[in-house]
Amino acid sequence: MRKSPPESLKRRIEAALFAAVLALGWRYPYLAYCLLVNVAVGIAGALRHGGRHGCGTFCPRGAFYSLLPDTGRKLPAGLLAKKTSLFAMAAMVAALAFLMRPATVRDWGRLFYAMIAFTTAVGLAGWLVFNRHFWCSVCPMGKICKAIRPGKSGIRVDAPSCVKCGLCAKACPFGFFPPGAARDGVFRDPDCLHCLRCAERCPKKALSFESAPPAPGQPLSP
Ligand code: SF4
Ligand code: SF4
Repeated sequence: MRKSPPESLKRRIEAALFAAVLALGWRYPYLAYCLLVNVAVGIAGALRHGGRHGCGTFCPRGAFYSLLPDTGRKLPAGLLAKKTSLFAMAAMVAALAFLMRPATVRDWGRLFYAMIAFTTAVGLAGWLVFNRHFWCSVCPMGKICKAIRPGKSGIRVDAPSCVKCGLCAKACPFGFFPPGAARDGVFRDPDCLHCLRCAERCPKKALSFESAPPAPGQPLSP
């Protein structure tokens, strides 16, 4: 296991919220309705800033995984691109709904809790086998969000300030290296979470969030 840089207070609070729902949701199924809030935030983030913005700015589950120790292992190549998790999740929801036959508001809470608990178990298994952001790479909600306006916003790279130390890639959940993949000074990957861990870790302050591309005809750099 590798030592990781400390996560922000905001992410630690999100992680605590997730842990509380996980611990208490079986007893109080209404808590599991927070899953719908997460879905709404993800879609709003995708519509406003594009792609997986909601994943990086408000995802208690993602924040929870980010507090787990780093195993030092890489996530399998191509996992981000695979859409299998969408079909697997749809099959799981259909199977659970069939088995549980939710009829009341409380029943639906129990169904949502079952989804949260099962997918968390999958994420934890993925952490043990690969690394802590395994779930983020297969998350069906992330795959839906990334299809909405992918690449609208990105990470601006101030190339003259960058000393190519690679710390940003080490901090990135998926190992992205913005300075090496930026086009016209901006890194736009449909799987970038806009979490800004790379920018927080950069000793030269060479990275920042670019909220949207400039209008046609406008220069990319100020
Ligand atoms: S951490 Fe900053 S200085 Fe280091 S490679 Fe990344 S962008 Fe460049
Ligand atoms: S490139 Fe930066 S903002 Fe994008 S996922 Fe990696 S750490 Fe987060």
